[in-house]
Amino acid sequence: MTSRISSETTKKTDLLALTLPQLQQWLKEQGEPSFRAKQIYNWLYTHLVTDFAEMTSLSQALRSRLAQQACIGPIVVRRELRSKDDRTRKILLELPDGKLVESVLMLYPPLGESGARATVCVSSQAGCAFGCTFCATGQMGFDRHLSAGEIVAQVLYFARELRKAPWTAVGLPNSKPIDHITNIVLMGMGEPLHNYDNVLRALHILNSADGFNLGARHMTVSTVGLVPAIRKLSQEPLQVNLAISLHAPTDELRGQTMPVNRKYPLAELLAACKDYIVTTGRQVTFEYVLLAGVNDTPTHAHQLGDLLAPLAQFAHVNCIPVNATAAGYRPPAPDAMRTFRAILFKHGVSSSIRAERGDDIAAACGQLRTRFGKL
Ligand code: SF4
Repeated sequence: MTSRISSETTKKTDLLALTLPQLQQWLKEQGEPSFRAKQIYNWLYTHLVTDFAEMTSLSQALRSRLAQQACIGPIVVRRELRSKDDRTRKILLELPDGKLVESVLMLYPPLGESGARATVCVSSQAGCAFGCTFCATGQMGFDRHLSAGEIVAQVLYFARELRKAPWTAVGLPNSKPIDHITNIVLMGMGEPLHNYDNVLRALHILNSADGFNLGARHMTVSTVGLVPAIRKLSQEPLQVNLAISLHAPTDELRGQTMPVNRKYPLAELLAACKDYIVTTGRQVTFEYVLLAGVNDTPTHAHQLGDLLAPLAQFAHVNCIPVNATAAGYRPPAPDAMRTFRAILFKHGVSSSIRAERGDDIAAACGQLRTRFGKL
């Protein structure tokens, strides 16, 4: 375990929080030529360095000045857990002010023609203001927004790990090892669209062709359904994937587990999704955590099918059997899930089941932090 971040470090400029134009501007203010920004970006995002001393194409004097005035994502990994099959790795990170957040790396073996995938599930806030009853983070309350640099740092941590030790699925020794991050999903702690500016800035930084160069189509923003922010997102030049945490097919039921539904009821949310689809021409994924006996009956499936049928092929439902949390919910039996999906299919709505991940390491958001806090 590394020691805490020094107060000296917290006063420095975090270079991971800067877009390329912002880094150019910052260098200009330091009296440096702006072309240095691309060199630094290359060291940060292609070579994945963590120390200015490694930036050997810069003069020794500049490296020393950078070390005095700037830092590279000052986060400390307090704990790392790996699932028994090593397909899920979870870290608990301490931020400069002592707040704790979690990130998860999910590794997928090659499937058919597609190669292996490495997806980072990123946190966007310390805690969360939205209080969904099935979510461990929702029980903690809201601490603060994460900076763009703190969001980027989570992705870079796992990128460096994979670079150092590429992953091959256990039992598939001949498959090509994967050594880089292929996808990111903003589905960790917090509501990403509540932290709109920092999240969008982090996505732009990770998308930069001069840096990490991750395509927008490999990025997914998952929201509880903040209607004005969904409308704003549809106007962004960066066309990321949108996922809506739906979890219930009626206002009455959704309001019981998701307090946000009182502010943005389903009719308003679905109207925003429809406009998003019209503007972007892109599919929207609806996340649906299945809670046995609560929202998983055939009646619920018919209600969900009726709700989403108007979006036709532009709606896809991701069924997620709940991870056990303190709230005491149970996942449905496999038969109930099959029936649920068959009914959606009859309504013309496509669906898939998201495989449960890392139960043995408490992979659902907020669970590691909750347990850590009790140690
Ligand atoms: S599910 Fe998402 S929005 Fe709801 S409380 Fe948890 S982190 Fe917040």
